[in-house]
Amino acid sequence: MERQLATEKQWLRTRLESLIDAARETEQKLNRLAALELRLLEADDLSLVLGILLEDLKTGFELDQVALVLCDARGDLHTALESHSLPEHWPLRLMEDPAPLQDLQAPTLGPPRDDDPEVLDFCGMTQLASRALLPLRRGKDPIGLLVLGSQRAERYSADQDTYLLKRLAAVVSVCLANTLSSWRLREIGVTDPLTGMRNRRFFDQRLQDEILRMEREGHALACLFVDIDHFKRVNDDHGHAAGDRAITAVAQRLAHHLRRFDLLARYGGEEFVILLPGLEPAEMHSVAERMRQGVEATPVPLDQEDEISVTVSIGAARLPPRLLREHPPEERARVLLNAADHALLQAKESGRNRLVISQEFCSVRPAS
Ligand code: GH3
Ligand code: MG
Ligand code: MG
Repeated sequence: MERQLATEKQWLRTRLESLIDAARETEQKLNRLAALELRLLEADDLSLVLGILLEDLKTGFELDQVALVLCDARGDLHTALESHSLPEHWPLRLMEDPAPLQDLQAPTLGPPRDDDPEVLDFCGMTQLASRALLPLRRGKDPIGLLVLGSQRAERYSADQDTYLLKRLAAVVSVCLANTLSSWRLREIGVTDPLTGMRNRRFFDQRLQDEILRMEREGHALACLFVDIDHFKRVNDDHGHAAGDRAITAVAQRLAHHLRRFDLLARYGGEEFVILLPGLEPAEMHSVAERMRQGVEATPVPLDQEDEISVTVSIGAARLPPRLLREHPPEERARVLLNAADHALLQAKESGRNRLVISQEFCSVRPAS
């Protein structure tokens, strides 16, 4: 009898200890999850939110896969992701049509299934023994899908309580929606609505950055001012809508000659400004001349087979790094802009539809 009692006591003690261990483990997991959610809520940038999800969640919760699909019904998320220079290996996909996610209302747990949304094919579902699909929503609209995957079958099973996963999905949804809205707002603030190019506010900021970079890396910076010739006549003869179309066409033709890190901005009205870092004088001459010819080459089509011939005048200046230090830092940007602007004035005065290069910093022999 006594022996039986002792055995029972031992059993109870072992059972109690294992329950306490399980409770401690759950508490630790809850704390880690709460800490991760707090970091998500504090993250004010899209790349931070994505990093927490695709890297920290994976390592912190010993998952074999964490992947994210984002709905991109407006078609602008590609630009958002590109502008954040995200690591290429992050398992992240965009889907234009959110319809396949419409019916996913709650977390789905268990082994991968044949009828899992096709868009998930990219994240190696076949190598997982279990997965949780967390629908991300803003109100009723799907905004994406977060996939948590494990090579252990017992990690996610259909009979599991999903309260914590629902909570995580809600926090992730809010954070993604917020950071994307902020990005969109910032984009609106620096984009010209007519041409879709950058506006003067963005240009002014970037010019300062480029001057600093120029100082650090020791390369030259070229600036072009481009102004449409006799544009008042275009408006007077064909109306403002045709004028708008000509401005947009010129912007696109100029943009055609840019490298990835060059910048074209609408400076105002029918005037554009372009920054070209790191070009030799002859290269600057040849790209500016190609821009001028590219605008002149083809008339801008209007409605009803009508078309207008458009030309531009270009003023160019190039500030070599050795001359940078001759000017105080706060004047460097203005010195470059003034030189390009002055060259534009000369291009207008000497007959329009031409390129004039400022002789203030460089003398250029045209590329043959
Ligand atoms: P120039 O060859 O000397 O540059 O002659 P211009 O006629 O182009 O000269 P100016 O810069 O004086 O005229 C610019 C005109 O551009 C005046 C303005 O009505 C028009 N403009 C400015 N912004 C817009 C716009 O957004 N849309 C349209 N359609 N016209 C605009
Ligand atoms: Mg003009
Ligand atoms: Mg003008």
